[in-house]
Amino acid sequence: MSLSHLSEILDNILSELEAIDRELRTLRSIRRQMETLQRNIDRAGAEIESLDDVLLAHETPEDWLHNSNNSNIVDATSVVEKMTNAMVNADADVCSICSEGFQGCSSGTTTPKQPPCGHVYHQVCLATWLSRSESCPLCRRIIRTIDV
Ligand SMILES: [Zn+2]
Ligand SMILES: [Zn+2]
Repeated sequence: MSLSHLSEILDNILSELEAIDRELRTLRSIRRQMETLQRNIDRAGAEIESLDDVLLAHETPEDWLHNSNNSNIVDATSVVEKMTNAMVNADADVCSICSEGFQGCSSGTTTPKQPPCGHVYHQVCLATWLSRSESCPLCRRIIRTIDV
């Protein structure tokens, strides 16, 4: 093999390497863009989740009732009916769903009910809540599927 031939081969290899180097730079910049994109997606996901909480917190029991489908309400009502009747301090305790006290609990629908997590809500408030969600609004424990 002649020296000039060898030199030609080396030149070819060098220009190949330069081309590969350019490709690598392009790929690195694409990777940086993807990492930025991923961060934005994560951030957007977190924002959507916190927005969900805000929306849920701002819905009134009437909204839930209105937005719920009837079979869910019937289902949730029978679950709540089976829950323990709670002992409450009628003057001090409030239902965290409607923020009202338990003074009026002589009527069946405002009976204080206690799911297995130990929080206490009006029966009707809890049934309405559980027609939309499976978990306790305060501690997020799953309470609709638990056989009580
Ligand atoms: Zn209530
Ligand atoms: Zn709870």
